[in-house]
Amino acid sequence: PTEESAADTPAPPPPPPHFVIVPLVAQGHTIPMVDLALLLAERGARASLVTTPLNGARLRGVAEQAARAKLPLEIVELPFPTDVDGLPPGIENMDQVTDNGHFVPLFDALRKLAGPLEAYLRAQAPRPSCIVSDWCNPWAAGAARSLGIRRLFFHGPPCFYSLCDLNATDHGLRELAAGAAAADVDDGQERFVVPSMPVHVEVTKATAPGFFNSPGWEAVRGECVEAMRAADGAVVNTFVGLEGQFVSCYEAALGKPVWTLGPLCLRERDADAMSSRGADGGQQHSAVAAWLDSKETGSVVFVSFGSLARKLPKQLFEVGHGLEDSGRPFLWVVKLAEASPPEVREWLGALEARAAGRGLVVRGWAPQLAILSHRAVGGFVTHCGWNSLLESVAHGVPVVTWPHFADQFLNERLAVDVLGVGVPIGVTAPVMVFDDESVVVARGDVARAVSALMGEGKEAGERRRRAREYGEKAHGAMEKGGSSYENLTQLIESFGQVEARKG
Ligand code: UDP
Repeated sequence: PTEESAADTPAPPPPPPHFVIVPLVAQGHTIPMVDLALLLAERGARASLVTTPLNGARLRGVAEQAARAKLPLEIVELPFPTDVDGLPPGIENMDQVTDNGHFVPLFDALRKLAGPLEAYLRAQAPRPSCIVSDWCNPWAAGAARSLGIRRLFFHGPPCFYSLCDLNATDHGLRELAAGAAAADVDDGQERFVVPSMPVHVEVTKATAPGFFNSPGWEAVRGECVEAMRAADGAVVNTFVGLEGQFVSCYEAALGKPVWTLGPLCLRERDADAMSSRGADGGQQHSAVAAWLDSKETGSVVFVSFGSLARKLPKQLFEVGHGLEDSGRPFLWVVKLAEASPPEVREWLGALEARAAGRGLVVRGWAPQLAILSHRAVGGFVTHCGWNSLLESVAHGVPVVTWPHFADQFLNERLAVDVLGVGVPIGVTAPVMVFDDESVVVARGDVARAVSALMGEGKEAGERRRRAREYGEKAHGAMEKGGSSYENLTQLIESFGQVEARKG
């Protein structure tokens, strides 16, 4: 071509921005980050989900879904390190751990993915535009830094929790609480006010903010906080209409942009994909859906405690008795590991026979999102994992709150005190992932809280009304013109401009 005609030819458009998503290998982290990757790909960006072989195999359904829809989404499998001290072979996900002592070695193994991640990033031409790595994956920070790629951290909990955590750290609350406990003036139940919050929030040492607060976790927590401070911003699965004041305070306290893009679960409208989210809940789906179809609108209480917390028989039996005593229709998820002891198997069978037609026990992975979106479900007994709580609110379903660990006690405060959509079951101390022998919640507490949630009184009605309103706002946030939709547009555009500049 002549010089003139070359000048007339428009420059080719810059490639779409490429986001590399690095989730923590735990269902509660991977599920929303997969939603994020699909959403980015649907909205014109390129998305790569980085994981390990065993977790990659679990994401086959996601890869197929993306391929069917011709979305630019790929799954990248980094080899999982072998010979990690203290980690039994074959464990690549938090939900495979069978002993509390295996978690730190699993984090040690994940740290070794830093080199393979850097090699993958180096091999990409052009260089990826942005890395979105889980707050709990600080090992991704080094690769981003050495290649000059901007990095956002994805933080699982709501901004309410993250703000409490930042303020507690900045004002030495953790040390204060630890000092009180060490001085023996406290059994972990002394109450502390979280400083600099726009609302009054009290915590105890037992339920104080902070992941990784137990002894042995100091190194992991230190790395996570450092990586958070060095990041270019945060991505949070929440929405302004739910906790706007905490979003802006968190952004100010963090001193970097906070992109609220949720509820990410509302991306999924397809019933099949909804029911196979996370694992193959699809197998259970038709039986569960048929059972729910036979129930009156808003009559069923759904009971599930996330992907990690496991209950021993005595505590399980109290839950079952409490549900039976509540007199309400219930749909209860019992994990396979919980249901496997012969005495539990027998007991659950007898419960189902007694509560025939009124109670259904799902053993294993349940299609939770499909359940929460069913018109028959009127309440949810939850451990307050943020995904579960947000999925419930997004579908207008009020909750009974039974926090277990990590951010869950503060998520309970958000649901009960701030949003007014929760009835506390009354726990004051955490349990580790693998429950101990103690029974922290008795059948009477379960029955009382479920009756209050599902009852006809004024308070129950108000709770339902508020949950419904948040549900409507949640849908609005994800629609064109809504806050989360527009935030995602801006996020993609801001990295698109980087691509254009490079071009
Ligand atoms: N989940 C599910 N089926 C189950 C258990 C959990 O689909 O049987 C999903 C649930 O919908 C949520 C995630 O797993 O998206 C759990 O995340 P959450 O933050 O609530 O709790 P965690 O598992 O991290 O404790």
